[in-house]
Amino acid sequence: MVARGEVSSILEDYRDLAVVTVCSHSSLQLFHGARQEGFRTIGIAIGKKPPKFYDAFPRAKPDEFFLVDSYEEILDRADELVEKSAVAVPHGSFVEYMGAKSFLKLRLPTFGNRKVLAWESDREKQREWLVGAGIDMPRRFKTPKEIDRPVFVKYYGAKGGKGAFIAKTEAEFREAIKPGQKYTIQEYVVGTRYYIHYFFSPLVEGGYRLSRGSLEMLGIDRRDEANIDEMYKLGASESLIDYGLYPTFVVTGNIPVVLRESLLPTAFDMGERVVEASLDLFGGMIGPFCLETIVTDQLKFKVFEISTRIVAGTNLFISGSPYSDLAEPNMSTGRRIAREIRLAQKKGRLADILS
Ligand code: AMP
Repeated sequence: MVARGEVSSILEDYRDLAVVTVCSHSSLQLFHGARQEGFRTIGIAIGKKPPKFYDAFPRAKPDEFFLVDSYEEILDRADELVEKSAVAVPHGSFVEYMGAKSFLKLRLPTFGNRKVLAWESDREKQREWLVGAGIDMPRRFKTPKEIDRPVFVKYYGAKGGKGAFIAKTEAEFREAIKPGQKYTIQEYVVGTRYYIHYFFSPLVEGGYRLSRGSLEMLGIDRRDEANIDEMYKLGASESLIDYGLYPTFVVTGNIPVVLRESLLPTAFDMGERVVEASLDLFGGMIGPFCLETIVTDQLKFKVFEISTRIVAGTNLFISGSPYSDLAEPNMSTGRRIAREIRLAQKKGRLADILS
């Protein structure tokens, strides 16, 4: 982990800040938003040539590409980015492809609190944090013997629903489980999914106040998952097993949604609890985060996961969402991050939002 003092000393020589991120995931939104707030932008791309698709999106094309052969090379060449006064904005692919361990070693001022990674990447610690905050999570089964209802089985570290499966009995579990891999068994929650995009600012003193700073809701999406979301067209899933077709949960895209308005107070209460607990546990989760929820027909939220940085579902709302529009028009999550960096810079508090 890069020491706090080290980040502060790097920042002393920073002048005209640039926003840098990896060319993937939510990079179009991040570059566009950074540009709206007047920052230079740098896109880290793997390979010998910049990705061509940015040419089609001139308002979201980075001012400069930083080409590397591998994600490891970013670590070795961080000082070149420091010379450019760059601030890294992490997203899911940035952290995933680089690897959490390397990401923690990156000697580059990075938006948010990197301490959150230890609490997010370990499912046990994540549960300890969320349940400790009073969040309702799907019930967990300790052993397959306890399976007495539909369950959802997830492998450790698997992202985007990869390899996850549903079982209704212990026998079904035994048939589908891959040996030698760590897994968790959760109650399968029946309901509708809402991926709520929040933003915690330790700097803003208005709006929805917390013990420190303020909480915003910037949008909500639902993920499109192959093949589960379209499989029903072929009939009952049991009958498809004969053809070797099992449901999979691989995220392929996102759909905008809004919540029943009467659920908003609970949605804010959950966001508030999670942030307050993070302040106590590790000094606070700064910036965007997402609670991945299922709302049951009893209108209760079950949170099955938290993402502690910008999620790709925010890409729907580059020109704002039905929620962010009510705070400020044209405010994407990418732009909101850039706005926070600008605000911190003006207040001389960059070290409070970078790590
Ligand atoms: P995850 O790997 O936790 O991101 O989950 C991938 C997908 O599996 C989610 O987007 C949901 O569609 C589904 N899912 C995860 N956990 C549960 C659960 N406990 N009950 C029902 N569906 C779930």
